[in-house]
Amino acid sequence: MPCTHLDQIREVTPSADGCGDCLKIGDTWVHLRLCLTCGHVGCCDSSKNKHATKHFHATQHPIIKSFQPGEDWGWCYVDEEMFDEI
Ligand SMILES: [Zn+2]
Ligand SMILES: [Zn+2]
Ligand SMILES: [Zn+2]
Repeated sequence: MPCTHLDQIREVTPSADGCGDCLKIGDTWVHLRLCLTCGHVGCCDSSKNKHATKHFHATQHPIIKSFQPGEDWGWCYVDEEMFDEI
């Protein structure tokens, strides 16, 4: 099934240059993900705290993209579908 959540993508401004939730607790992360509904920046599932996934569970914002320089892929948590370019 194609993803039906693309209409929840907004023009967002990234909330921070790092994972704000990790910075609060003095922790580190591996990679960053950007929520395309609200601009929340959170850490990836390879990071200990998985804040990007926690943000999805807390808000139901379905789509993130990689916040790594040079990476342009996205992911829908609901459909578990990857986008090559977003
Ligand atoms: Zn979707
Ligand atoms: Zn984090
Ligand atoms: Zn969000």
